[in-house]
Amino acid sequence: MGTNINILPLPEWFLASGAPFIIAGPCSAENEEQMMKTAELISQIPEVSVFRSGIWKPRSRPGEFEGAGENGLKWLEKVKEKYALKTTVEVAEPKHVELALKYNVDMIWIGARTVVNPFSVQAIAQALRGVDIPVLVKNPVNPDLKLWLGAIERVNRAGIDRIIAIHRGFHYFEKSPFRNAPMWEIPIELKRLAPGLPMLVDPSHICGRTDLLLPVAQKALDLEMDGIMIETHFDPHRALTDASQQITPEELKNLLGQLEIRKKTGDIAFQNKLEEMRTEIDKLDGELLQILARRMKIIDEIGDYKKENRITILQMKRWAGIISDRLSIGINLGLEKSFLKRLLNLIHIESIRLQTEIFNKKGKKN
Ligand code: PEP
Ligand code: MN
Repeated sequence: MGTNINILPLPEWFLASGAPFIIAGPCSAENEEQMMKTAELISQIPEVSVFRSGIWKPRSRPGEFEGAGENGLKWLEKVKEKYALKTTVEVAEPKHVELALKYNVDMIWIGARTVVNPFSVQAIAQALRGVDIPVLVKNPVNPDLKLWLGAIERVNRAGIDRIIAIHRGFHYFEKSPFRNAPMWEIPIELKRLAPGLPMLVDPSHICGRTDLLLPVAQKALDLEMDGIMIETHFDPHRALTDASQQITPEELKNLLGQLEIRKKTGDIAFQNKLEEMRTEIDKLDGELLQILARRMKIIDEIGDYKKENRITILQMKRWAGIISDRLSIGINLGLEKSFLKRLLNLIHIESIRLQTEIFNKKGKKN
C-alpha cells in the first residue's frame, strides 16, 4: 500500500520537548459546572496540554444524551480563557467544523464512527479547505487500516499538514477484557506506512474500564506512541456518557506519575550490544526461512506422489499425530502452547494449499 502524505513533524508545531502529548477531559460536556470544575483540576496537572470534550455525542439510540451542542462550545471557550488549556472537540459534519472554529477550538478530532464513512470524512475535509487547524483522526470502529489511512489522506489533501492519528481500539466479536481490542499490529503498520505521522493512544475507549488504563497507557509509550488521550471527569460516577471508563483528575495525576518514560535509544555500549543481538536474530530468521522453504519443497514432492497414486491430500490421522508430537517437542523446548498451535496450523494450511495447487494442475500424471 503506497502512501503520499505530507505531515508536519509534531515537535515542529507542538511539544518541541518531545514530552508525551497528554489530552484529558470529559467524554462529554454536560454542564458549565462540570466543565469548569474538571478543567480547573486538570489545569493543575502540568503534563496535560489539551482539554478534550465531546460536544455532539454519537449515541447508539435516540433519546440518550446527545451532547450539549453549541452551549458546550461556550463553556469550552471559557475553559480555554480561564485555565490556559488548549481545547479539542469531535466533529462529525461540516456544521460542527464551522462551529468549532467560531468558538476558537484549537484542534478538532474525527471520531471512530465517522471515519468508517468516506462520504462524511470527505465532507469534513471539504469544510477544512483553507483552514489551518490540527486534525486528529481516530481509527475506524472496525479493524480496517485502509479506511484509517484513507481518512488521513482525505484530510491531508484538503491542505492540513498538522495531523495526528489516534488509536482507540477496534470492535472485536470475541470475548475480551477490552471494550475495543487494541490489535496493536494495526497502528504499528500505520506508522510503518506513514513514517513521521504522530500517533496518540486513547486507553479510555480501548479499555472501557479504569483498571486497565495504566498498562495500556504504558504500552502505548513503550511502542513509541507520542502520547495519550484519556477521559477525565471530576465525578465519573455521575457522567452522562462512558461513566465506567472515566477517571478523576486526581487518578489521572497518579496514573501519569506511574508511567515510565523510557528512552528511545541508549548509549553507544547499549547500541552495540543490541546490534549484536539483532544480528543473531537476523541470522536465525534466515535459517528459519531456509528450513521452511526446504519443508515446503518436500511438501511439493509429497503432493506429486499422492497425486500419482490417487491418494487424498488431507490425512487426519497423520495431522493429529504431527500436532501432538510437535507440541510436546516445542513445549519441552520452552515454547508456549498456544503459539505452537497457531504456528503449526499456519504451516499446515500452507502445506495443504501447495498440495491443492499440484492436484489442480492440468496434465494428469496417470
Ligand atoms: C470519544 O472520544 O468520546 C468518542 C466518542 O470516541 P470514539 O470515536 O473513539 O468512539
Ligand atoms: Mn467517550
